Amino acid sequence: MKETSEATIDKILKAQREFFGTHKTKSVEFRRNQLRKFKSAIEKNEKKITNALHQDLHKSYEEAYLTEVSIVLQELQNHIKNVKKWSKPQTVSTPLHLLPSRGSLHHEPLGVSLIIAPWNYPLQLLMNPLVGAISAGCCAVLKPSEFTPNTSQVMQEIIAETFVENYITLVQGGQETGEMLLRKRWDLIFFTGSTAVGKIVMKAAAEHLTPVVLELGGKSPCIVDETANLEVAARRIAWGKTINAGQTCIAPDYLLAHESIKEELIEKITDSFKEMFGSYPQESRFYPRIIHQRAFDRLKGLMQDGKLKSGGELDRDNRYIAPTILDKVDKSDPVMQQEIFGPILPVLSYSNVEEALSYINQNEKPLALYYFGKEKNAREILTKTTSGGVCINDTLMHITNHHLPFGGVGGSGMGQYHGKESFKTFSNQRAVVKTPTWIDMSFKYVPFKHFKWIKKFI
Ligand code: NAD
Repeated sequence: MKETSEATIDKILKAQREFFGTHKTKSVEFRRNQLRKFKSAIEKNEKKITNALHQDLHKSYEEAYLTEVSIVLQELQNHIKNVKKWSKPQTVSTPLHLLPSRGSLHHEPLGVSLIIAPWNYPLQLLMNPLVGAISAGCCAVLKPSEFTPNTSQVMQEIIAETFVENYITLVQGGQETGEMLLRKRWDLIFFTGSTAVGKIVMKAAAEHLTPVVLELGGKSPCIVDETANLEVAARRIAWGKTINAGQTCIAPDYLLAHESIKEELIEKITDSFKEMFGSYPQESRFYPRIIHQRAFDRLKGLMQDGKLKSGGELDRDNRYIAPTILDKVDKSDPVMQQEIFGPILPVLSYSNVEEALSYINQNEKPLALYYFGKEKNAREILTKTTSGGVCINDTLMHITNHHLPFGGVGGSGMGQYHGKESFKTFSNQRAVVKTPTWIDMSFKYVPFKHFKWIKKFI
């Protein structure tokens, strides 16, 4: 992947600053038109996008549509419908001592934003933040991952055909381009990727006091207790672990299974893998591939831990790893020390839920947490843990509700987006107080006449 030169980036940034300075992006009609154009462009290019995703990750048309294209289209529809309402100044209540002033909240665009995305959902994770940027009235420079060249190329064409360069531009490149972009001054950096690079982003942003949104990863636990419907739990876990071959930030990373149901659960998950992909998942058109050989080698290394219960087949040339379950892993094994980000499911068992909760709480705060079992137990788990999002008796599905914000907490990130949260993320919430001049109360001025009365009112 060719890197973008510093001169090009400086030119784009200068042009975007000038364009933002014209205040054109602040008109709600302008924003809605851009969102409508963007939606038509995605619809028109649907086939090109899904073909590119197949080339890069072997995603089936169905998976590419459901987990990438449709997510962006729904987000666009939601913003087209609501941006006018969200943009209206909101009157707030006025405390007695401020009367007859009136307070209101105005959302104004932060300015020129930088959006950096990873490779695992290359379309969705670059375009969804962009919807928020447009709807808030920001300009944006986009940098996709260098590891999905086909999808990145299609996205570059779509962006170039749909928007003028001094409003929204996509630049290609890898780490070098990323580092150069981070040296520049932005009004917001929206980063999705690994925790390690997230730290680099935040350090660079501190130099200019630029706000950041960090959508990071980590190990999302999945607890299954003896009250769970094992049939359904197994199917939903198997599905969440094999969508995009486990290369999903909110995939259930590892299982914490009650010792009384562990064996049965493992058998049922194995059966579910078979139901979805047959006896030879490598031959299934629905089973994606590992992004590159470096990731393949890392995952192969993690498969040495514990005891192999199912799967385990590998094909390096094809970057194929079968859905795999590892039992009897140790908490100190590499597979339990790093985010897996592949189709490997290690299983830990527990006898008392406190053990499971204490293990989760010793580690970084996860991006997602899954629990399968009865409502009464779910309440305890919610109270005694934290995470960016939660599904009770399901996996992944919380991300599909655009009325819920999406984001991490602590080590899994900061800031949230989707739906109205995206609009707010790219906006400055400006506090405005309007005060009439027909009256000018003297008590706030020195020498504070009637001080005793003022004390009673505030
Ligand atoms: P990554 O951090 O390696 O790369 C992400 C982006 O940052 C890429 O565009 C890359 O080119 C760029 N980059 C790499 N090094 C850089 C540097 N030094 N300076 C500036 N930019 C740099 O992540 P990845 O391997 O592409 O993606 C996998 C990670 O992303 C996993 O940890 C996963 O959990 C996380 N992720 C999180 C979410 C979420 O929504 N929270 C979604 C998807 C993936």
